[in-house]
Amino acid sequence: LNRRLTEFGTTIFAEMSALAVQTGSINLGQGFPDTDGPEEIREAAVRALRAGHGNQYPPGPGVPELRSAVAEHQLRRYGLEYDPDAEVLVTTGATEAIAASLLALLEPGDEVIALEPYYDSYAACIAMAGGTRVPVTLRPHEGAYRLDLDELRAAVTPRTRLVLLNTPHNPTGTVLTRDELAAVAELACERDLLVITDEVYEHLVFEGEHIPLASFPGMRERTVSISSAGKTFSLTGWKIGWITASPALVTAVRSAKQFLTYVSGGPFQYAVAEALRLPDSYFDELRADLRAKRDLLAGGLAEAGFGVYRPAGTYFVTTDIRPLGAGDDGFAFCRALPERCGVVAVPNAVFYDHREQGAPFVRFAFCKRTDVLTEAVTRLKGLR
Ligand code: PMP
Ligand code: GLN
Repeated sequence: LNRRLTEFGTTIFAEMSALAVQTGSINLGQGFPDTDGPEEIREAAVRALRAGHGNQYPPGPGVPELRSAVAEHQLRRYGLEYDPDAEVLVTTGATEAIAASLLALLEPGDEVIALEPYYDSYAACIAMAGGTRVPVTLRPHEGAYRLDLDELRAAVTPRTRLVLLNTPHNPTGTVLTRDELAAVAELACERDLLVITDEVYEHLVFEGEHIPLASFPGMRERTVSISSAGKTFSLTGWKIGWITASPALVTAVRSAKQFLTYVSGGPFQYAVAEALRLPDSYFDELRADLRAKRDLLAGGLAEAGFGVYRPAGTYFVTTDIRPLGAGDDGFAFCRALPERCGVVAVPNAVFYDHREQGAPFVRFAFCKRTDVLTEAVTRLKGLR
């Protein structure tokens, strides 16, 4: 393994999911739902397969049906207009969209500002692209993690090429506000930065609203907006994602994507096109279901003695283990938790460069059946 990648080891998700299987624990570590997405959408994939739609290499930018559905979705939800031919690119999940965007847009040595704690693929992909990551730490403040705009401004140097932004934010559950986003937009325009926005949790917002950065003045031309079907339709195994951006940026990202995967899951693309056109009631029900699950798990964790950062979005809740009186090492806590009570969680420290900042924090996922979450809470209450 080359020097760019050795520091990253195995992803925490694989490690913790293996531990869950090994110990027969409830897996609230890796974020994936235990109920598959809408049957009609899964049937649409079967129909596409049977009809021979997408069984051979689909077009490089993605099938026209899906590109149109993505453009319609951006218009319907956010009033953002994108040309499905020139301004939409289908990718193999948001993961490939992130990788291809960084590989396409970075010169070796370019600095990338990312909000810390950050999703683990960011650091690895920045490294693979030869970039240098510059973390800006979200800090806990009055029960939520917030972005310090002065720290963000101070992180920009003449070498900064882009900001990699994630809202709603994994693992903290923070949803950036209109004011915070406006400040990011202003900074990007002032310092001539590109922004990649990871919006995979766009539909999982319980408080406030998700506002795409691309909708702010001056941002449409400098933003690569990324999303995917995994979270919105509870189909994380399908790995269908997309970007929307200006023609120049889409062309750049496509140049990288063509040599990574060439194309992405043919028949699934047709089904995801149908999914994006589901009525608003689908999205409303998804949100209501997850809000109830958030309340169940966040409430249960608080009763079990954890410090709880109630998430405004995503399906993760970050907790502070210190009030439990079990020390402040989230890593050790997560490694011992399956033995202690049959539950798996993820230590937030892995999402930090400044590991000490994340040390006492642990993330639990609530995209699970109610009975599973109830049982997990019962087990966690036995910790004290
Ligand atoms: N970004 C964030 C913030 C995530 O949590 C995830 C998790 N799956 C991804 C990207 C990857 O999305 P996908 O499964 O569509 O590749
Ligand atoms: N996004 C999910 C999480 O944060 C899972 C990602 C993965 O397994 N790579 O848990």
